[in-house]
Amino acid sequence: MKKGYYGQFGGRFVPETLIPALEELESNFRRFKRDKDFHTRLNELLKQYVGRPTPLYFARNLTERLGGARVYLKREDLCHTGAHKINNAIGQALIARLSGKERIIAETGAGQHGVATATGAALLGLKCTIYMGSEDVKRQALNVFRMKLLGAEVREVSSGSRTLKDAINEALRDWTTNVRNTHYVLGTVFGPRPYPELVKYFQSVIGREAKRQILEAEGRLPDMLIACVGGGSNAMGLFSAFLKDDVKMIGVEAGGKGIDTGLHAARFAGGSIGVFQGAKSYVLQDQDGNILDTHSVSAGLDYASVGPEHAYLKELGRVQYTYALDEEALDAFELLSATEGIIPALESAHAIAETVKQAPKLGRDKIIIVNLSGRGDKDVEQVSRLRPR
Ligand SMILES: *Cc1c(COP(=O)(O)O)cnc(C)c1O
Repeated sequence: MKKGYYGQFGGRFVPETLIPALEELESNFRRFKRDKDFHTRLNELLKQYVGRPTPLYFARNLTERLGGARVYLKREDLCHTGAHKINNAIGQALIARLSGKERIIAETGAGQHGVATATGAALLGLKCTIYMGSEDVKRQALNVFRMKLLGAEVREVSSGSRTLKDAINEALRDWTTNVRNTHYVLGTVFGPRPYPELVKYFQSVIGREAKRQILEAEGRLPDMLIACVGGGSNAMGLFSAFLKDDVKMIGVEAGGKGIDTGLHAARFAGGSIGVFQGAKSYVLQDQDGNILDTHSVSAGLDYASVGPEHAYLKELGRVQYTYALDEEALDAFELLSATEGIIPALESAHAIAETVKQAPKLGRDKIIIVNLSGRGDKDVEQVSRLRPR
């Protein structure tokens, strides 16, 4: 396969001015991958700071309630800062630090990736600027405050729809100008080469751990993996270790209020092939290629495109992609809270919603691993308004 491509997907569709920055990052990444000291330092941070390995928890109550396959939860919600995003943010911050950069920048939508990046910057003594659409700044005041506490500067972006995609454009502009001392921490397995590979590299620890843990617990591989798919990094992190095995995999997108309503972020069910923000993949666009507005109850799944490797895995038929509606995710949010005492992120609740559909169809001798990508503390206020008690 051509470098940076996954079948026909991926690539590096960026202005000429960004190429040197991407080239430099790619060569640093290749170098650190082979560097023993880098791995020693990274593993130490993952263990002592992030809290890895995260448990693979057998959800006995949920399993009994669903009456089918044995359900295990990979507890990324127990990572420092409450989600898998820190695995990538710490890895990239470490690359920046060891490459001699003084500053990292990032885009953020709901603020989760901004918080993870600001955390990495605080830990490793880097300056940090986070770009965020002014609409999102208003909606996510608490995360803006968190980033500032962590020492980051938050720059509001008031162009376009004033949300995530505009923030990405501004961050890329900043990087073009300041590449000498700045690293751009992209938050998911998307964007131009080498980001999809780089982010997958740092998230693949999820799948490696889960594989070892399930072999320990059950003495065999699982029958099915389920993960939610925003850009696709937590799903890719889990799936990557099992791609060559006889294990079924399901990626769950945000079905919002339904595909026919247009109010969703289901790129596979409702999108088409196109180029967006540096990569070729499935995109929610109109016939002229204008990017459509997206909707999801969960901000982390609310994006108009999806990682190119997912598009490839879909085309190969290796991974099946489906979606969960807002209401199904909210049901799952309540179900997991009440049965297991675990309040999931609304993103992760999409994966639980699919588990609710799959587990009863499988026999009791079957095993499902669900990636619980994050904790739901950030979402309780929103759910208290949508589902008051
Ligand atoms: C951001 C986020 C996601 C979606 O991002 P992916 O790159 O698809 O993993 C999922 N879950 C949580 C908890 C998140 O914060």
